This record gives sequence, structure tokens and C-alpha cells, in this order.
Amino acid sequence: MKNYKMWIGGKWVDAGSGKTFPAYNPATGEEIARVPLADKPDIDEAIAAARKALPIWSKKTPAERSEILCKMADKIAESAPELAELDIINHGTPVAMAGGGVMMLPETFKYFAQVSRSFMGQVISARPDKFFYLQREPRGVCALFIAWNGPLINTGFKLPAALATGNTCVIKPSSACSLEILKLGEILENLDLPAGLINIVTGPGGTVGETLASHPGINMISFTGSCETGKRILALASQTVKPVTLELGGKNPWIVLEDADIDAAVKSAMPSCFGNTGMACAATGRYYLHEKIYDEFAEKFVAEAKKIVVGDPRDEKTMMGPVVSLEHRDRVEGYIKSGIEEGAKLILGGQRPTTPPLDKGYYVMPTVFMNVTQNMKIAREEIFGPVACFLKFSAKDDVVGMANDTDYGLAAGIWSRDIPRAIRMANEIQAGTIWINGDILGMPDYPWGGYKESGYGKELSISGLEEFVHKKAIAFDLGNEK
Ligand code: NAD
Repeated sequence: MKNYKMWIGGKWVDAGSGKTFPAYNPATGEEIARVPLADKPDIDEAIAAARKALPIWSKKTPAERSEILCKMADKIAESAPELAELDIINHGTPVAMAGGGVMMLPETFKYFAQVSRSFMGQVISARPDKFFYLQREPRGVCALFIAWNGPLINTGFKLPAALATGNTCVIKPSSACSLEILKLGEILENLDLPAGLINIVTGPGGTVGETLASHPGINMISFTGSCETGKRILALASQTVKPVTLELGGKNPWIVLEDADIDAAVKSAMPSCFGNTGMACAATGRYYLHEKIYDEFAEKFVAEAKKIVVGDPRDEKTMMGPVVSLEHRDRVEGYIKSGIEEGAKLILGGQRPTTPPLDKGYYVMPTVFMNVTQNMKIAREEIFGPVACFLKFSAKDDVVGMANDTDYGLAAGIWSRDIPRAIRMANEIQAGTIWINGDILGMPDYPWGGYKESGYGKELSISGLEEFVHKKAIAFDLGNEK
């Protein structure tokens, strides 16, 4: 069993206290590694190292930083199998999917390496007698908070954008999934980076996370996680007025109109609902199905969901692995119980597999509820597990109003052959991303981020870069021409 170390100031170190905590394999419940349990002095050290690296890194030209980011992308791509292995054993990602997820990381590094080269300055031609320019400057030392549901993808949304714009970073992985991020440090270590450019501190949110979020040495927080923690981060950051971006939860509606291509919608719904065992902020939480296609959609959806092979993440045939932890399985099962108690009709799943070896891991079978109504808990709260909820609407209902009747606003889907109608609906839906007849995810070129309690600020695209910079306006008077 490996004892991991934290990456601070370019060195691999134990926690000053010597304390550690366990990392588990969710497919077996076994302890697979020990990880340092950081304390305040370790965090102070990581921030001091990042502050020391800041003048070195921020003074490099965008072209120099871009070149280093490209080297990082190549190194990560070369080491993808090692990262995928940890994704399998620490997160439970099936082997058939792990490699693809990892490769999104070098893609985001390359994307930000390219688009940041001509990003830092801009002339504003507002008046002939004045010269204005906008200078973009790094925020400084950024704390990057990573959720456990996609540790590498979450990191790819933040780290290359922060680095490309001249910032230095302290990364705080989730304590449920720290190994992949620590491995990423090991992969980047040989690139001769300034010591302290990237630091990784490990431990629980309640201690390590809170210390980091309230620390005066942190200039910006980029956070991915739950709404509840996001609100806490905001409160902590307010003490020193730190800029914060929040990528929080979702309860994403999928509206299927009476003229939709049902087969295509069902096919697309499978990865959207059950991909990553439903542990995705973008997962579809609520299906609003027109009464004319409600039964057909449900029947076809269940038939497809039954084909999903739930099993050992190491098995090539496995399409859906376990959820991340025992606590999380309890949480998902709590929602299933509440759906039954509130009168929804369970038509698939709802239980754990009982046959060995799956009985030892944290599995939940693909689960489908019909007859869900707007006020049920399973229709309102983020389940973050493989659970589909079907709600029926008719022509007299305001389905967009129903979709908007939520505290969340991350993403939404619309299925219809009438594209102008779908676009009119998209204009009315309060969400950061709308998919019409599909669900395109994971492209670094377009912005990602929510409305309402799903958070604010964007990741990916040029908008994602903008979050990591101060914008300074510099103006001078040209005087009158003689
Ligand atoms: P979480 O809020 O429990 O943890 C997120 C991060 O914050 C972790 O690093 C954690 O250690 C840290 N943390 C926890 N409590 C803290 C505290 N009191 N102070 C400071 N830091 C603290 O979230 P999670 O359970 O890891 O992730 C699941 C959630 O993340 C879901 O709600 C999901 O929708 C959301 N998510 C959103 C996006 C997005 O892009 N919008 C992407 C992935 C996940």
C-alpha cells in the first residue's frame, strides 16, 4: 500500500503532524493508500511557496507559459494510463471509460496554451484624443477546490486557465479522491517548473478547505462542489473580499416534446443519466415528458437502462461502476426511499446488487421512477446517483415554468423536431447551458457554469480565462494635434 505525500514548494512532504488518512477503492471497500492529513502550518507553507513562485511565473511572457503548458499536456497524455488506473481504483470509473476521461485533461491544457497567447492586453479605441488600453494581470495565488466526482476533469477546467494567465496555485482535492491529483503532481514534477508553481494539499474540507478559503495569502478561489459548501466558501472568502467562482450542483431538466425523435432522445439519455454512475453535475435529474410520448419514452428508456452492465470497474464489459463511498450510497438510497414514500412509481432498480463480489462495493443499480411530481424531494434535490425521475406534462402546462421552478440552473435539454420552438424555449430556460437534441460535453471551447444556486463565474473558453485575471484600465491623453 502506497503512502502518498503532498507537493509543496516543489518537494514531496508528509504532513507536519505526520498524520494520514485512508483512501478507499469504492468497488471493494478496501483501503488502498494513505494520504497526508494537512494542518494549518502545511497550508501556510504551500501558500508561501506559491507566493514565492508568483513573480517568477507571472513575469514569463504568454508565449513562454504557453510552451510550458504544451509540455505539460504532452506529459499528461504520455502518462494517461497511470492516471486512468487511479481513476479506476480510487473513483470506481470503469476501465472502458477511464482513458477517455483522462484525455480531456491534456486537451484543456493545449486549449488554454493556445488561446492565452494573445489574451493579456487589448487597445480600446474610444476617443481620438485619448489612448486607452486594458491590461490583464494575474489574480495571484489561486486556491483550486476540486470535487470528487471527476477529479481530473475538474482540475482540467481550472489549473491550465490559472497557469496560462500567470497565476500560481494551491490545489485542494476532495479527501474522497486525492490520488489522481497527487499523481498529476508526480507527472508534472520532471518539467523543471518553478518550485511552488503548483502545490497540492490534502485533507478534509472542514479543516484544510476552510483554512485555505479564509487564508489572507490566497487571492482567488475557484471552487467546484456542492451548493452547501459553495455558500460556506463565499462566507469565508468575504472576510478578505476574495474573488470566487462557484461551479455547484444541478437538477437539470430534460424536456421531451411530443414531436421529438424518441429513439435518439433515449439513446442520448443513457450516458447523460447513468454516465459516471449519475455522479455528474450535468446529469439529467428531471425528465419532463409530453403525455403523448410519456409511456413510449419510459418503455424505451427502461429497455436501454436494462442493458447497462453494472460491475467491477476492471472488467472491460462494465458500463457503470459503484458510487464513490459508503456515505454517498447511503445518501442515494435515502433519496430512493423518499421517492417510494412520496408515491412515485419505481419501475426499475432501487436496490444494490447482492451477488459477490459486487455485494462488497458501493453499488446502486440504474433506477427509474415514473409518476414523479414537481414537489417531491426526488424532483427538487440533486441525487447525484443513477436515478431517473419522469414527470408528465400536457399542452396546457407551462413546461418551461416547471423546468425553471428550482433553486438550480446549471444545464437543461430540449428534444423536438421543431427547432425554432426549441430555441424559443431555450431562450426562456434559466440555465447556463442548454442542449437541443443532444448533449455536448467536455469541449474546452465553450463556457460552462450555472445560474441561480448552481453558482457563478465560468470555466473553459475565453470566459474561463477572464475569471483568472484582474483587468486594469490604463489611459493617457494624446493632446490636441498642433
Ligand atoms: P463538496 O462541496 O463536499 O466538496 C467540494 C470541495 O470542497 C472538496 O475539495 C472538499 O474537500 C471541499 N470542502 C468541503 N467542505 C468544505 C468546507 N467547509 N470548507 C472548504 N472546503 C470544503 O462537494 P463534493 O461532494 O466533493 O462534489 C459533489 C458536488 O459537486 C455536487 O453537488 C456536484 O453537482 C458538484 N459539481 C459541480 C460541477 C460544476 O461544474 N458545476 C462539477 C462537478 C461537481
